[in-house]
This record gives sequence, structure tokens and C-alpha cells, in this order.
Amino acid sequence: MGNLMETQVLIIGAGTTGTAIARELSKYKTDTILVEKGEEVGMGETKASHGFIYSGGLTAAGSLVMKSVMLPSGQTAFNPRSRKTQMEHQSIKEFPPMAKELDVELTRDRRLMLAKDEDDLKMLKVAERICGDMGTKTTWVDREAIHEIEPHLTRDIVAGIADEGYQLSVYPWEWAFALAENARQNGIRLMLLTEVIGIKTLEGGFLVYTSRGPIRTEFIINAAGPYADKIARMAGVCDFGLVCTRSQMLILDKRINLLNQSVSLAPKPGKVRTLRRTISGNIQTICSEYYPVNDPEDTTTLMSWTDQSIAGAQEIIPSISKNDIITSYVGVRVFNNRDPEEDILETSKGNPRFLNAAIRLPGVSVIFAAARHIVDLLGNQGLAMVTKSDFNPRRKRIPKVNELSEEERKRLIAQDPRYGRIICRCEEVSEGEIVEAIRRGARTVAGVKYRTRAGMGRCQRGFCGPRVLEILSRELDIPMTAVTQMGGLSRVLLHRSKELLGSGGLA
Ligand SMILES: Cc1cc2nc3c(=O)[nH]c(=O)nc-3n(C[C@H](O)[C@H](O)[C@H](O)COP(=O)(O)OP(=O)(O)OC[C@H]3O[C@@H](n4cnc5c(N)ncnc54)[C@H](O)[C@@H]3O)c2cc1C
Repeated sequence: MGNLMETQVLIIGAGTTGTAIARELSKYKTDTILVEKGEEVGMGETKASHGFIYSGGLTAAGSLVMKSVMLPSGQTAFNPRSRKTQMEHQSIKEFPPMAKELDVELTRDRRLMLAKDEDDLKMLKVAERICGDMGTKTTWVDREAIHEIEPHLTRDIVAGIADEGYQLSVYPWEWAFALAENARQNGIRLMLLTEVIGIKTLEGGFLVYTSRGPIRTEFIINAAGPYADKIARMAGVCDFGLVCTRSQMLILDKRINLLNQSVSLAPKPGKVRTLRRTISGNIQTICSEYYPVNDPEDTTTLMSWTDQSIAGAQEIIPSISKNDIITSYVGVRVFNNRDPEEDILETSKGNPRFLNAAIRLPGVSVIFAAARHIVDLLGNQGLAMVTKSDFNPRRKRIPKVNELSEEERKRLIAQDPRYGRIICRCEEVSEGEIVEAIRRGARTVAGVKYRTRAGMGRCQRGFCGPRVLEILSRELDIPMTAVTQMGGLSRVLLHRSKELLGSGGLA
């Protein structure tokens, strides 16, 4: 166990919520530690997120349509006065300048919602009304125009609505990396592999027991995602519960050029059928049902869900096939049982020095407003909020050779020849990028992959996997057999085969 550490504010959990709060707090002269049980930031719910910024438009409307059809005619489930809605509304203004400050990717796309029959058309009218309530303009598009924009869509479509330009998309894990990096630049201490295992209440604060020793703190911010109820119980102040649902997504090869934007079929009870083009140009299917799950770490993919997703995708683009799949993954969404539409962003009733930031979907969309809210609450509880005159809001991304012009590429390679050695051929990622990712904190294969995209292409690490392993081992000065996929027991290699031969371990 390590020595006792002391801080004013302890943030538990480094997903998009915890890192956004850390970055917001780094503007002030406060002493803050951000602890994360994993070996990387952003690898909880954040990692599986679609990264749609719910800022009005058909993405937000889609999830409200089903609730609205159950209400008396003329009403919609949209509640402009809810705190969540207001925070979502701010995001369309906040994300573009923040993306510039932190040099993070952000795209703005069109989104189409499609009808195949009369029932679907009714749903589209509800979506149109909800968009109107949200102040988003939609336009009706006829069958011919739809096929002109998206020639590979099914011929069964009768009409659609479009919300041009409202769809902001991000890679949420990239935001978690950027926010954590910038928070550290501005003095926040980040402790990885540090799991909170117990909390004792003291006069004027807490003693927090972690896997790396105790930390005395005046305030706790609980941003532990699916474990936020567990953390609140440790402090004896839990007045909410969390429930989780899981669903499976597929990523298709970017070489199949079948879609230009995000497209959904009109929502049907219990059925989501959306295809989206990711920032990197792959098609992602969001077509599997949601199932309740007790264990938030249970991300096992199932063949039956793959079949379900492909069948859903083919309802939109019939020529999509199983051969186009390059990977699949499961995402676990977290909701609270107190108010399924709201976040728990508050000082705890049991102890005002314990603040909950238990955020429900769409949690990425509200990070900046939520972080400001939490920092305001800290100020209300007596933490002196003195701004730093030397706060630096800017952070630069890792240079990506495949985005550079010929000239820029040559200049970069002249400075560091490692940028000229391509390691991941599918995504064109150089050794220089991987080394820089490690310098910025990547400790695992997943850390490298999510920072650089090495291993995210068609061959799914078939070629670059061993090279990435070698580079991690070399740069971290650890044996190759100690490199993990994503921390913990996930070692990529168990033994060196020659050692096994020597010991008679291989028959
Ligand atoms: C499939 C899917 C699609 C989604 N799509 C969207 C979308 O399009 N738009 C949108 O806005 N939102 C979306 N969301 C929701 C969004 O991803 C979440 O709301 C958001 O990422 C929550 O972030 P978080 O930081 O609160 O939680 P997490 O990312 O889970 O972070 C919590 C962190 O706490 C750490 N932790 C837990 N216990 C401890 C402990 N004892 N000690 C130390 N650390 C601990 C965990 O390791 C984890 O890193 C989606 C979610 C899913 C699953």
C-alpha cells in the first residue's frame, strides 16, 4: 500500500464525464486527483458510445418518437424544460469551438429517417413534430430524391425526412484522451490502475481507500459510470440505483462504399434500425435490440445478434452482407432508476461534500454543461474557485500521416523518420504516431488502437498486431509477454514459444 496522499477534490472515474470535470476544474487553483481503475482513460461506457451529439434533429427525435406515440394525440415526449434537454441544446454551440481548442475530430452530417409504409409515415410525422418543438428544421424527401442521395438503399422506401447538418459526431474516447491530457497539462493529477475500494467519512472530508493507497480529500466527485451506485454505497450516501442494457454493433469494411450519411428506418416498438457512416468512413450498424444485463462488464458478442444486425441492416441496404463485417462489439448503456430521463448531477443529500455525476445516455452530448454544473456545485459547497491566469485551453492531436499533404509529410519525416515507417497498413498508421501515443499515456494495445486507429482496419491487427506489441514492449521497457490488450489479465502473449520448447512445454 502506498503512502497517504492528500487533495482537495477526488474525481472517481475517467470516462468522458470524469475527464470533462477534471478539465473544467483545471481552470481553477484547486488541487485535484482523477483516479481510474483501468489502465487507460475512456475505456468504460465511453468506449462503446456512438458519439452522436444529441443537439436537436433526427437523432434526438428518433428516441422520443416511440414515447410520443403512447401519449394522447398532439403531445410529444419532448420536454424543453428538463435539465437534460437544456444541456443537450447547449452542446451544438459548445462542441465545435471545443473541438478546435482540443484539436479533436468532429463531423457534421445529414441524417435521413425513412418510411416504407403508412405506419412508418405516421412515425415520421411525429418525428417532424418533435424536431419542430426542438427548433430543428426538417424537410420531406421523396423516393427519387432519396435514391439520388443514397443509391444503394432499398427500393421499398416511400418517403423520408432529412435534417441537414444537425448531426454532430465525435469519437468519445478521443475526447476522453484529449480532456485528460489537457487537464494534466493544467496541473490535474491522473492516477491510472487506481481502484476505489472503500470510503470513510471524516470531519470535513473523506479518507478514500484505493488499490494504490489511501487518499484524504475534502470533496468526492463520483463519475464512476455503471459503478456510481456502488461508489455512493461505499460512502453510505446512495439514494439511487443503476440499470444496464446491452446491444451489439457491427463495423463494416470502409471499402464498401454504400452509404454517405446516417440513415434510420422509422422507429418501431422494440426495433432500432440505423446505419451510420463513421468519421473514418466505415458503416456501423445500430440494429440490435437492447437486452437488460446485470454485469456492466459483460460485453460478450453473440452470433445470433450478428444475424439480427445484418438482417436489420439489409432492411435498409439489401446488398450488405456478412462478408463486409470487420468487427463487432457490445455496448452497455447505463440508466438510473430514479428518473429514466435525467442525469444524477447533484450534491448528495447524505453528505454535501459527496457529489454524484451519474450520467445517462446521451452522456457524451452533455459533458461540458455537466462539468460546469458540478464545478458550480463545488463552489456552492465552499470550495474556493480562484481562476488560474495561466490556464492553457489548447492541446494538439497526434499528427496523422494519412491526413497530411505530401509536403507536410516530408517535413514531419525529416524531423522524425519513424513517421515514414507505416505499421498499420489498413489505416496507414506510422511508427511515429504509435510512439507518440505511448508518450502521451498509451500502455496497452487498446490504448494505442484508440489513440491512433492502428488495428482498426480490415485485417483487425492481423499484420500490425505483432509490430505494435514490439513497439509497446520497447518503449515501455517491458517484456512482450507483459503487454496487455486492455490491462488486468488480458496479456496478449502468454509465453515465448522458444522458452516453452526449451522447457518441454510444447509437444
Ligand atoms: C452503445 C452505446 C451508444 C451510445 N451512444 C451515445 C451517443 O450517440 N451520444 C451520447 O451522447 N451518448 C451515447 N452513449 C452514452 C455515453 O457513452 C455515456 O453516457 C457516457 O460515455 C458515460 O460516460 P461516463 O464517464 O459517465 O462513464 P464511463 O465511460 O463508464 O466511465 C466511468 C469510469 O469509471 C471507472 N470506474 C468505475 N469504478 C471505479 C472505481 N471503483 N475506481 C476507479 N475507477 C472506477 C471505470 O473504469 C470507467 O472508466 C452511448 C452509450 C452506449 C453504450
